[in-house]
Amino acid sequence: MAKRNEEFVTHLADRSEDFSQWYTDLVLKTDLADYSPVRGCMVIKPYGYGIWENIQHELDARFKATGHKNAYFPMFIPESLLNKEAEHVEGFAPEVLWVTKGGNEELAERLVVRPTSETIICSMYSKWVQSYRDLPLLYNQWCNVVRWEKTTRPFLRSAEFLWQEGHTIHATREEAEEETQRMLKVYAEFCENVLAMPVVSGVKTKNEKFAGAEDTYSIEALMQDGKALQAGTSHFLGQHFSKVFDIKFLDKDSQLKYCWQTSWGVSTRLIGGLIMVHADERGLVLPPKVAPEQVHIIPIAMHKGGVLEKATELYDALKAAGIRVVLNDDDSQSPGYKFNDCEMKGIPVRLELGPRDIESSKCVLVRRDTMEKIDVSLDNIAQTVLTLLDDIQSNMLKKALKHREEHTFVAKDRKEFDEALEKKGFVKAMWCGCPECEAKIKEETGATIRNIPFEQENVSDKCVYCGKEAKHMVYIARAY
Ligand SMILES: [Zn+2]
Repeated sequence: MAKRNEEFVTHLADRSEDFSQWYTDLVLKTDLADYSPVRGCMVIKPYGYGIWENIQHELDARFKATGHKNAYFPMFIPESLLNKEAEHVEGFAPEVLWVTKGGNEELAERLVVRPTSETIICSMYSKWVQSYRDLPLLYNQWCNVVRWEKTTRPFLRSAEFLWQEGHTIHATREEAEEETQRMLKVYAEFCENVLAMPVVSGVKTKNEKFAGAEDTYSIEALMQDGKALQAGTSHFLGQHFSKVFDIKFLDKDSQLKYCWQTSWGVSTRLIGGLIMVHADERGLVLPPKVAPEQVHIIPIAMHKGGVLEKATELYDALKAAGIRVVLNDDDSQSPGYKFNDCEMKGIPVRLELGPRDIESSKCVLVRRDTMEKIDVSLDNIAQTVLTLLDDIQSNMLKKALKHREEHTFVAKDRKEFDEALEKKGFVKAMWCGCPECEAKIKEETGATIRNIPFEQENVSDKCVYCGKEAKHMVYIARAY
């Protein structure tokens, strides 16, 4: 068995040579997901789905704490509804999947499988809202969406994916703008504290904003290969949709007014981000807060008297402390095989326990983030493990932050910009604000303006592309 696992590990592509293959190998070989018979659609296996459930759990608590409620809307949208908002339909039309038949009969009106739910939710909001007393409506839904993309990759871009979409309506512009910012902050805090994934928060350029939004805000993370990943977005929709869908309310001043609106979402893409920020040449490295299994207990010389009993005792103690723990007592696998399995799957801590350890009332903890081995006493083992999990969590964020700092470059002119792009990472540069410069940068280098960060610095006075007077500092990178 051990031999089979060695082969298993060596089949992980060398990530310095082929990052993309390394990524795919990880997804498939650690049992996160598999390809399905439907083109571009993936099956999320229990280990991958376990990560998603933890993401959901953490985010859902944050949504509820900020006053949101969950609801569910149909996955089918009548064509006439989608067509109501011109910019929105234009943005999504190329990747919309149509339903045209029910049984053997052509449908009277074609249906779209939701690529996002603004239109169907707006049609309901217009029914539900009459007075300022009905506002705000702060709803979220957890669901799947379909975008029929040509090129797909597990978690990063698939024809069907899971996400949450928040849709809120408010009485005033200020309230809606505040909500847009609030949810972006929730996402940023979640990414840093739960996924150990540092992000840059800012506003998208007009060119890159969501179809139908007034402003789109994003959080952008840097992957280990130097490419950026848009990890979440929050849109200020203004009154575009409320005017089209006639969402009006009678205000305190007895005036009939249009509502102000937001929408925001994150998806299973975050799992792709987790992999590309933390995993290494040995396999996944999962932050304890989302790891489906936080500790594996591996008994050594399991058949010897007392080992399995003691291991079970430790298992009970860890479980009682709320730790997600697995006791791997499969006697068809060698300890070496189990160690490799832990490393591949990114289990934050493995606990090794043998007869000699038991004699001296200790065990060995191996942390996945640094591979450090620590001898610890069996007294208060649950507390020791909890402290270690916290330390792993914060160390992973520190490590990711360090990587981002080391791969963020400043470019003052075109020459420096080309050199910075070569080094792979975020490029901080000034931009004149003109869409032509933005388009040229994309056309000539394949890199895009990720966002205009809230934290502005004046790295130069001139646009990195045209040399004219600069308006903003932007983050530019090649992206997923
Ligand atoms: Zn320019």
